[in-house]
Order: sequence, then structure tokens, then C-alpha cells
Amino acid sequence: MSVYKLKDLMAAYIEILVNSEYGMPNGHLYALIAIRTGFSLEEHMDAVRALKQSGMVAEHGQLLTWAGTKEQRAQVLAAFAEAPKAPAKEPPLRLICCVCGDAAPAHKQWWNHDTGFGICPTCYARQLAKEGQEAAEHCYGLPNVHHSLVD
Ligand SMILES: [Zn+2]
Repeated sequence: MSVYKLKDLMAAYIEILVNSEYGMPNGHLYALIAIRTGFSLEEHMDAVRALKQSGMVAEHGQLLTWAGTKEQRAQVLAAFAEAPKAPAKEPPLRLICCVCGDAAPAHKQWWNHDTGFGICPTCYARQLAKEGQEAAEHCYGLPNVHHSLVD
């Protein structure tokens, strides 16, 4: 697993533990955070182990608690308070498929279409098979940006 992922999971756990007066059961962190964000049990255990080694988290039975000093706690809380929040996601544009007339949600309007029109994933797949990638991208833009949203 990458260091980046471990860091993210540790940060999520620290944020919870530093704010939990009575701590949080190990299994709850796993169920509430790790599983929901796609981490394995092994990755969860790696994060908990690293936090315990750092001295900022202690484990009593199955209960994990913040074990850092008051100063560390204040520093961590300040760091989270300052951390920029992810910008709220814009809802997708409600475009109409220029081929079949179905909904064709997109994040951006493609220049090569009249305003308000895009292409739905079904029609894009058909055009892609017919015209090839270069021509399809020229006509319809990029998947997950101008059409065929995944997220
Ligand atoms: Zn269509």
C-alpha cells in the first residue's frame, strides 16, 4: 500500500480521536471509516499501529483514545480548522443528447455542440465504435467531462 493512503487514513482517525472525549472502539473506526473509504483490514491495522507508535493514540482493550499532550491536541485541532475544505461540487449540467434526445449530464459544455446539447453515454459508445477515439473526442469531447459522467 502507498504511504499516501496510510497518511490519509491516519489523518481521518486522528481527526476523530482528537475530538472524541471517550475515544472510539477500534472496530468502529474500521467499520465507519476504513470500509466506507475502501481500505482493507490490513491497512486499517497498519494505520492504527503507526498511530500507536507515534504516541498520539493509545489502545485500551479495543478502545482507541487520543494520547497526545494537550499542546499536540490543540495543534491538531488548529491544523484541521485551517485545512481548506474541498470546494462543494458543482451539480452537472443538464444537457440533452444531440443524437437521441435523452439526458446527457456533463461537467462542461463541449464547444462543438450547441449550448444545452451533449451526448449520452449510449450514443457516445456507438459513435466511438463507428468513428474511432480521435474523431469521437473531436466531436463530443472527453468522457467524464463533456459527457458520460462517472462521478
Ligand atoms: Zn443519446
